[in-house]
Amino acid sequence: MVTGNDTTGDAVDSVKVGRTDDDERAARRDEAVRAAVEQGLLGPDSPIVGLLDVTGIRESAAALRAAFDAVTAPGTPVLHAFAVKATPLVPVLRLLREAGIGAEVASPGELALTRAAGLPPERTVLDSPAKTPAELREALALGIAVNADNPQELDRIDALMRSAPSRSPLGIRVNPQVGAGAIEALSTATATSKFGVALRDEGAREWVVRAYLERPWLTRLHAHTGSQGVPLSLMARGVAETYALAEEINGRLGRRQIDTIDIGGGLPVNFSSDATTPTYAQYARLLSEAVPGLFDGRYGLVTEFGRSLLAKHGTVLARVEYTKSAGGRPVAVTHAGVQVATRTVYAPAAWPLRIAAYDAKGRPKTGAEVVQDVAGPACFAGDLLAEARALPRLEQGDLVAALDTGAYYFAHHYAYNSLARPGIHGFVPDGSGGVAFATVRAAQSLDAIVTEAGGAHASALTTLRAPGSR
Ligand SMILES: *Cc1c(COP(=O)(O)O)cnc(C)c1O
Repeated sequence: MVTGNDTTGDAVDSVKVGRTDDDERAARRDEAVRAAVEQGLLGPDSPIVGLLDVTGIRESAAALRAAFDAVTAPGTPVLHAFAVKATPLVPVLRLLREAGIGAEVASPGELALTRAAGLPPERTVLDSPAKTPAELREALALGIAVNADNPQELDRIDALMRSAPSRSPLGIRVNPQVGAGAIEALSTATATSKFGVALRDEGAREWVVRAYLERPWLTRLHAHTGSQGVPLSLMARGVAETYALAEEINGRLGRRQIDTIDIGGGLPVNFSSDATTPTYAQYARLLSEAVPGLFDGRYGLVTEFGRSLLAKHGTVLARVEYTKSAGGRPVAVTHAGVQVATRTVYAPAAWPLRIAAYDAKGRPKTGAEVVQDVAGPACFAGDLLAEARALPRLEQGDLVAALDTGAYYFAHHYAYNSLARPGIHGFVPDGSGGVAFATVRAAQSLDAIVTEAGGAHASALTTLRAPGSR
């Protein structure tokens, strides 16, 4: 089902033709599904679970570091700051920390997660578009890097810098306005994007140059122009424009005040097969050809990749509760829907997910493919994980896996129908042919659902009365 290229029946052959990391990852996933069933992580009373491939996450982190090591001058400081919003789970942040990856945060909650994971301030970058005075004060007190989004935010930072010195590396986020990708809602560099200082607007470039001239402590420049659906060439143009601006500012100031460029994240992920494409190595090479000066050692680098580090290492696994037929279309009603795949359910054309079918024992399901709907558990008609998808005919008790869901899926629970957040488990091969699991996040309990729905305030509204009312 996954590799399918070894028809000789000779295991040595498949080694000789060279199993790629992608093949290995797909094989680990199948093993983990079967082990999750055998070890009872999934069953009639726990019908949905998220799985994270720890080996794969480590490999992606290493590939990211190697890709930029290969194109930067020796000794260039490079901080890869994982965009926490992609997978906001403390054990994941700790794993990445161990793999030499820092964190990019965009809210007090995300900052709290990175601190719980033990990330030091010097490996943390704060970027949100709506930072409050308190958030800015905390970040500057901790020494966390901050990229100011706009002139009003820079005013606030000015005031804080006057009141107390800070170790925080500080910069400005610019929007090079190089244009949109295929998904409008994720295009950060359009003319009217809400992010950063819109560089091509009248007077904006001059304002940015002056901002640096007047503030010797502004030493970074930030742009994040990529995301899913944005072609690499457009991302490279955004980086090139940002580099050109840094050169212009340093040239006009006559000193190398900007010493670090934060090129953002946004490498797109291939959701249509197990192949990792594009790779970090391809992107780093493209950037080094398009913007050679950025890599010659004069600038430190910060990157902020999110989706591309985690997406392919996550799997949502859910039981088929019922199967039925409607209007001639077979429908499998599963426990994975809008609560774990919100983007896919609401925007299926932009966010299609691969679905793999397994039998009740967690073995890849074979047999003739039938066009069927894979539905979720929520009470609205559009709650479909996949519509009219050709898969072996699903039966009651089978399992479906939504693949490539390690970023922006099961870690982004949507509480429709008060559906519980599923448990998440990391896995590795156990060294003796099996799989070892560790809990990343326990499933949400019903008590927790009630508490989060105001359970402690049950009579808050019935006891609240205007004077004189009955
Ligand atoms: C979301 C975001 C990222 C990460 O984007 P991905 O597409 O997940 O790689 C990086 N930087 C900033 C400022 C972001 O908002």
